[in-house]
Amino acid sequence: MVKYIDMHCDTLMTAWRKGAKTVYELEGTHADVKRLLKGGCKAQFFAIFMPSIDWVPKLGDQYPGDDKYIEGLYELFCNTVNQHSDCVAQAVNMAEIEANDAAGKLSAVLTMEDGRAVLGSMERLEKYHGMGVRALSLTWNHENCFGFPNSRDKDAMAKGLKPFGKDAIVRMNELGMIVDVSHLSDGGFWDVAELTKKPFVATHSNCRALNPHPRSMTDEMIRALADKGGCMGVNFAPSFLTMDLERNDSTIEMLVAQIQHMVKTGGIECAAVGTDFDGIGGELEINSADKMPLLFTALEKAGFTGNEIEKIACRNVERVLRDVL
Ligand SMILES: [Zn+2]
Repeated sequence: MVKYIDMHCDTLMTAWRKGAKTVYELEGTHADVKRLLKGGCKAQFFAIFMPSIDWVPKLGDQYPGDDKYIEGLYELFCNTVNQHSDCVAQAVNMAEIEANDAAGKLSAVLTMEDGRAVLGSMERLEKYHGMGVRALSLTWNHENCFGFPNSRDKDAMAKGLKPFGKDAIVRMNELGMIVDVSHLSDGGFWDVAELTKKPFVATHSNCRALNPHPRSMTDEMIRALADKGGCMGVNFAPSFLTMDLERNDSTIEMLVAQIQHMVKTGGIECAAVGTDFDGIGGELEINSADKMPLLFTALEKAGFTGNEIEKIACRNVERVLRDVL
């Protein structure tokens, strides 16, 4: 079975909303530890996704405020690795991922999506690193202390990082925290590409040549990301896959087309996986982590060699983890 690394899921948030105590076994989700292991997952990036400031009022009393919410998701994450230490363990670098894999365990890598809780404070950034956060999506779809999100408005899209965002890139390079440009404005992307001394990633972003959503990456951006030694994870969300933004289905064929375009544009070293499981809706052909082998079989049918499939599935992400952490 092909071993893979998934750079993004929102399973912690989904489990928290369900009131679950761990993410070992969940109902009505795309992923849980049991199914990840069954599907061949070697390491799963578990994001602490910060609910949109538009949703927070809708969450009502359930939402305890950002700090308490982060604590809640972190507790879920810790409970999972503590209570199921026979099959899953936290990892903060490649050596730990290798050791866990050799012991037959899934590696759980903590990440954060939307840096708004950093509140412009290097101390807070360092605190999250101390908890084990090893990748940070600088923004989600709103302005924060780092910069601005992707936008259909040309001027908004051109906005770059804020002064704190620029300083934070330098600090993240020093600390060993991967810069994630998924959701960021194009202007912010180019600031990251210029400023970072280490490879950076788009944990869950597709190609704008095949999908006009401003969340997707232009060919020029894909080449710049690849030039820096980074990689991008194919996102399974229906609205990020084809020219039709209203589509509600996501097929394996569409995922393969995205990966083919990544490889054609940025080379075989830049393509990776970032499912966005439990953060997306629609009819997904791969709607559960245990079905991931279907993607690798499809890549083989599309003409990728075993070595190329290994790179897409995990080697490219592993190279970035080695370089940055
Ligand atoms: Zn996202």
